[in-house]
Amino acid sequence: MTMLEVRNLHKKFGKKEVLKGINLDVHQGEVVVLLGPSGSGKTTFLRCLNFLERADQGQMTLDNQLIEVGKAKEKEILAHQRKTAMVFQNYELFQNKTAIENIAMPVMMAQKKSKEEAYQLATHLLEQVGLSERGNFYPSQLSGGQQQRIGIARALALNPKVILFDEPTSALDPELVGQVLTLLREIAETGATMVLVTHEMKFAYEVADKVVFMENGYVVEQGSPQEVFEHTKEERTKAFLSRFT
Ligand code: ADP
Repeated sequence: MTMLEVRNLHKKFGKKEVLKGINLDVHQGEVVVLLGPSGSGKTTFLRCLNFLERADQGQMTLDNQLIEVGKAKEKEILAHQRKTAMVFQNYELFQNKTAIENIAMPVMMAQKKSKEEAYQLATHLLEQVGLSERGNFYPSQLSGGQQQRIGIARALALNPKVILFDEPTSALDPELVGQVLTLLREIAETGATMVLVTHEMKFAYEVADKVVFMENGYVVEQGSPQEVFEHTKEERTKAFLSRFT
């Protein structure tokens, strides 16, 4: 089943066209990795997927709900946003809230769940991300890797149809990257539908179902990791990948 279908997505900042007609299909339970040089539009694309940026033109169908992005009304946008969750490069946790509050509060606000229910869920997710002992810590008292695991728990708490990850390990010290990648693998194994921007090529190769190479606002090439990494078709993809070997 197709969970997310994107058609002809365009986005300009001023006169600069950053997305030039992006098409993407993400099936339920699939892990899709977006690769590409800096400035190719990966983050903008991810942000357009949940209306942190509004694309100018195009269609998205998430969980069978079609949305014309250019014309969408506030109510449609909110309904779409509730089915997505984002994990940010810099975690974006509330600094004046504890770890457990960071997870539980969006659940209470977005899903109108009771405090008791939200905290129960948050406690369970803290355990899943290996931070049961850190629920009452503030973000500043946690390592980058721990903060990102809280960011991931917060996204999972919203029970989204698709989770978007924007370079989730790129702000981390190298020794902390592994623990977050391990958690991402575990989440992938639960059958979550995930779209990730990452430069972790080994992770992409081992975990992705589909690899999408973007450049200059276009999808240049996409396929299974084997197709894209081992049987690369496009010269531009080859040139990009050669930097990592
Ligand atoms: P990537 O994630 O592939 O590095 P981005 O989506 O961050 O690419 O950026 C694509 C292009 O859009 C870049 O040229 C960037 O400068 C530009 N851009 C991104 N966000 C904005 C913004 N809010 N305003 C103006 N230009 C932007």
